[in-house]
Amino acid sequence: MRRQVESKLKAIYRQVVERNPGEAEFHQAAREVFDSLAPVLHKHPHYVDGAVLERVCEPERQIIFRVPWFDDEGQIRINRGFRVEFNSALGPYKGGLRFHPSVYLGIIKFLGFEQIFKNSLTGMPIGGGKGGSDFDPRGRSDREVMRFCQSFMTELYRHIGEYIDVPAGDIGVGGREIGYLFGQYKRITNRYESSVITGKGVTWGGSLVRTEATGYGTVLFTSEMLRTRGQDFDGRRVVVSGSGNVAIYAIEKAQALGATVVACSDSSGYVVDDEGIDVALLKQVKEVERGRVADYVERRPSAKLASNGSIWDVSCDVALPCAPQNELNADHAATLVGNGVQAVSEGANMPTTPEAVAVFQQANVLFGPGKAANAGGVATSALEMQQNASRDAWTFEHTEERLAAIMTGIHTRCAETAEEYGHPGNYVLGANIAGFLKVADAVIALGVI
Ligand code: NAP
Repeated sequence: MRRQVESKLKAIYRQVVERNPGEAEFHQAAREVFDSLAPVLHKHPHYVDGAVLERVCEPERQIIFRVPWFDDEGQIRINRGFRVEFNSALGPYKGGLRFHPSVYLGIIKFLGFEQIFKNSLTGMPIGGGKGGSDFDPRGRSDREVMRFCQSFMTELYRHIGEYIDVPAGDIGVGGREIGYLFGQYKRITNRYESSVITGKGVTWGGSLVRTEATGYGTVLFTSEMLRTRGQDFDGRRVVVSGSGNVAIYAIEKAQALGATVVACSDSSGYVVDDEGIDVALLKQVKEVERGRVADYVERRPSAKLASNGSIWDVSCDVALPCAPQNELNADHAATLVGNGVQAVSEGANMPTTPEAVAVFQQANVLFGPGKAANAGGVATSALEMQQNASRDAWTFEHTEERLAAIMTGIHTRCAETAEEYGHPGNYVLGANIAGFLKVADAVIALGVI
């Protein structure tokens, strides 16, 4: 039976690769989930008979559209927009929009696929989806970003809705973009449908803590992992890659818990600041001025800009990759292990290559996979939807308490599931199985649709 299950998994994976040619990131995300599922399918053969995995790997709907807009010189520009509505067994599709030149269907599918299991792990009633565009907001004026967002929403609006599909932010989509997107939706539909999008400003339907949620949640999940070994953040050296939304609030929370965050980065290089990153200055440079990490270094005498090597060369106790996918490879992992890293947690989606994950696991380093560790963002989006539905606005303290309880719950679910399936401490396996089980049961219950 075990061998039969394994060959079935291989066959389904082959089919995923054949049906989605050239989509390497999606293949990688599917493989990582498949690698965990053999014990589940062995224990519950009705998932195999019900073709649950085949159904979950095929998006319910994929939308690709043209996004025309005028730049400030009056030139017509054309970008491509995507929305992959992957799985709605547990609730309306929910997942962010990414605006980055690297975006293509394979990236959106990998993110949407991860989102199904992540959303399931949160315990909230939300399905999985993701979208975005190959548009690059960096270096564009506010007016150009507004024109682009309005054009993007002029197509997207017909596919979304509070009971259908609820987008949010991701790389390149922050509060400014969410505002322009929501504004255009409201204008076209003539409806103030707050829960159609999350990550809104707090004065117009947003939730306190949503901005901080992914970074804070990643640190809270990591705290729970450290606690299983009698450790915590106090006095630890931490390295955080990126300096965007997730990274900034991961730095803020880690430092609030007594750690010193000694490095962060952006796509132009990384900064080492042995006195600890000055979060207020980083926010000013990144959130207000939309500058580069070099601008931070110019104003911070204790900081140095590194232009060669990798941020993962900086020795630390805890590493939090919070930037793009596949930025931490096996060599980086070996360096981190050699420098004595105790815990690694993914604030970003799939930032660690499978080979690097294996290095950490073999070295008995605590490893928190993104679908568990960064689920605080989408969970707080679901809390934003709850507040919108009840026309209510919660306090910061209450919302943060809810976030903390959700992250503790996710940690417990992953740890207990890993233990139940014979791999204690393996959070990758625990997250994949716990996330899958809930979706699989709903897929079976709803029939062949
Ligand atoms: P963001 O605010 O746009 O920030 C992205 C950061 O990554 C920027 O500092 C960016 O630098 C940096 N970056 C991009 N490419 C890089 C590279 N090659 N090397 C080093 N740094 C690089 O996006 P975000 O919302 O923080 O998202 C970061 C990650 O978290 C993504 O994987 C996203 O999917 C995941 N995530 C986000 C949320 C959320 O709520 N926002 C929730 C769950 C997961 P530049 O400015 O130079 O490009």
